[in-house]
Amino acid sequence: MPNPFAIEGEWLKGNAHAHTTNSDGGFSPQQVVDIYAEREYRFLAITDHNKVTPIQDLDSRGMALITGIEVTAGKTPLLADFHIVGLGLKGQFARPDSDEPATLAAALAEQAEVCILGHPFWTMLSYADIAPLTDYIVGLEVFNTICHLVGRGTSEYMWNLLLAHGHRVWGLAADDLHHELLQCGTGWIMAKAADDRPQTIRQALRQGLFYASSGPEIYNVEQDGEYVAVDCSPCQEVLALGMGGGPGRTSHYMTMPRPFEHVRINLRDPNKLYRIVCIDQTGRRAWTNPFLM
Ligand SMILES: [Zn+2]
Ligand SMILES: [Zn+2]
Repeated sequence: MPNPFAIEGEWLKGNAHAHTTNSDGGFSPQQVVDIYAEREYRFLAITDHNKVTPIQDLDSRGMALITGIEVTAGKTPLLADFHIVGLGLKGQFARPDSDEPATLAAALAEQAEVCILGHPFWTMLSYADIAPLTDYIVGLEVFNTICHLVGRGTSEYMWNLLLAHGHRVWGLAADDLHHELLQCGTGWIMAKAADDRPQTIRQALRQGLFYASSGPEIYNVEQDGEYVAVDCSPCQEVLALGMGGGPGRTSHYMTMPRPFEHVRINLRDPNKLYRIVCIDQTGRRAWTNPFLM
């Protein structure tokens, strides 16, 4: 799997999930662009519910703007619905007649370059609900800001469960901005890309060349035989997690002063896949995709 820290390119901060007054958001499309431009984001996807908001007439304010949609699919047994974000559509989404989630996801995957499962904790999806979609999604939202603000933001267990079952899905963080400025700037991805064109960014998302964050920054992750070295913004702990259950390797038993900005962790089995989680002193997390082995 690709290591974004080991390739040439520029880190671009972006939000891949935001709503406007074209669906149930409170800000106009241009206001949403302005909000993220003022926070020095480099890319933004506008993803209104069940419709593609045109972006070509917006002032991009120097950001890469990506067309998007958030498609709502049928109900689960727990009466939650599926929300699937599609990025890079060429026109409006041609919705199939069926409301069955895998059928909708397949249609979206044909029309969008990148499909992401939104906030599975908020919609209370089970593994059985998500597994049929894994051929069509490149990843899921391991963190979603607006869901975090109502108590169901982090879907890390579901991500790990999918990885443990061998599904190659990436972990993203996104704001899902709707109405309040409090909902912006708390979940984002850092994509490593050769340039800041929308198609290059979409390709980086497909390839997993990014990390997700709700706070910490990760500057480098480098494997050296049985060890992984991590450089990050000041953090309380760093985790090196394999794909299955049982123990991962963590900094918890290490005695260096907190916070620290560098740690070297002995991997339990360096021939298996690992992902890194950095946790700052307020509990906010950053997640790499699983690329170490
Ligand atoms: Zn949603
Ligand atoms: Zn949304």
